[in-house]
Amino acid sequence: MSAKKLLQPLAAQLHASFSASGRPYAHQHIHQLLHAAIGSVSPEVDSQDNLPIQVCRDSDRQYNLYETIERAKKCLGLTDLQAVGVAEEVIEVLRAAGIGVNQVRLLLDPSFTSKTRKKAFKALCKNLDLNELGDRFVPKTATLAIAAGMAPPPKITWKDRFALAADFPIRGQSQLVEMVTRSECYLWVFPPTDHQATASASHDRYFGEQTHPSAEMGMGFTIIDSGSTRPKFPMLSKQPEETFIQYSLSAPMWFWRAQSNTWRLGNILRSKILDGAPWHNEPLSDVLPGGLKSLPRIYGCTTCQTLFVEKHSGYPDVPTQCQCGEASSTRDQNESPALNS
Ligand SMILES: [Zn+2]
Repeated sequence: MSAKKLLQPLAAQLHASFSASGRPYAHQHIHQLLHAAIGSVSPEVDSQDNLPIQVCRDSDRQYNLYETIERAKKCLGLTDLQAVGVAEEVIEVLRAAGIGVNQVRLLLDPSFTSKTRKKAFKALCKNLDLNELGDRFVPKTATLAIAAGMAPPPKITWKDRFALAADFPIRGQSQLVEMVTRSECYLWVFPPTDHQATASASHDRYFGEQTHPSAEMGMGFTIIDSGSTRPKFPMLSKQPEETFIQYSLSAPMWFWRAQSNTWRLGNILRSKILDGAPWHNEPLSDVLPGGLKSLPRIYGCTTCQTLFVEKHSGYPDVPTQCQCGEASSTRDQNESPALNS
């Protein structure tokens, strides 16, 4: 959904609310205030840069109160005090809707040029500005902590992300390599941010007010299995033939601590999508219209402990072979002769 479409209902809601109290502000001005608050600068800048403005449930985002006040004064001709009230109302509506820039996607998505990314993060960092004296809020997102120079950037190439995701937090075999080797699994890049089962891929938190700051960040992808059939009514002997499909998802998290100052594998967040469950039906097609077959199959190598995907035109940068050089395509071809010998 485009940013404009996403913001339209919020602009309408604010317009109605302002009008009710005798302040019929124009829609175009309200859109200016919304973009000032998000940190996407203005509708003009946003439509040029095409920033990922989304409903992000798994981020403790900060809005730009200072710039929204300034914009309200400029666009609506308000006094300082009036502008504060208007800006706070705008931010409250955005916060309730969970709408803002998906900063994890902005950091990781190669479709943004480095120039756009740099410019957008520079603007988003202004969300931390408290006043014109240079006082700042502590960032609450890992991405803004990185942009503000409080944490180093992680290595974001697919090879680096897969290497870290295949790691194990403490010791033993990698959970993800074991999982994708054991069952049929698919790589889901930038899954929807507004669904509880997939939001963690854009998880974005910075804990800067602790003695030892730390941060957690999703790697921009989740791994989904091909689903397993479950009985709809396990406690009842009747209708045993009625079933639903349970999909299991695993999203690896980056974790950073100020003491060690390196990004490593934190948790692997697990979630489920229950397609057809009688108590909580979540059709997979609602979140993934193209179905699992629209995603590349992901494999793992237990010898070198790496992850890789089948060759897929939509994912040119993702590794398609492990470090032993075993490609997914040759692997499939070799399977049958090996079984026969
Ligand atoms: Zn290997």
